[in-house]
Amino acid sequence: MLKATKIRIYPTPEQAEFLNRQFGAARFVYNKALHIISSQHKRHGLKLKAKEQGKHLVKIDQWFASSKTCSCCGHKVDFLPLSVRNWTCPACKAELDRDINAAINIRQQGIIKLRAEGLSAPANGGLRKSGHALVAA
Ligand SMILES: [Zn+2]
Repeated sequence: MLKATKIRIYPTPEQAEFLNRQFGAARFVYNKALHIISSQHKRHGLKLKAKEQGKHLVKIDQWFASSKTCSCCGHKVDFLPLSVRNWTCPACKAELDRDINAAINIRQQGIIKLRAEGLSAPANGGLRKSGHALVAA
């Protein structure tokens, strides 16, 4: 059983200043450590998570135009406002859902990166339980 005890102290002004400095230093060290752990997790967290699950993490360029590129023919439109959820490719006339089109393009980009690293991509898109599964970020 855990017990907690509250103690009330009445420090002198000098003792209060000393305590404030000590607690301030402890807070600074704690916040610094928290920042280091947080930044390490941001940098390596996904990679570690993928490794734990037996998957291979592939990073694609954050500026890759996944929504504006037609997943059927590869044509890229110059401007596609966020409010436009469905659009028609001017080159091949394919009707595209913005999110599904982006997902297909991201998957394709991940497969290209995977192959560039000398790894293979399963034909079923990584749904098989054995071997490397695909993860795109
Ligand atoms: Zn197209």
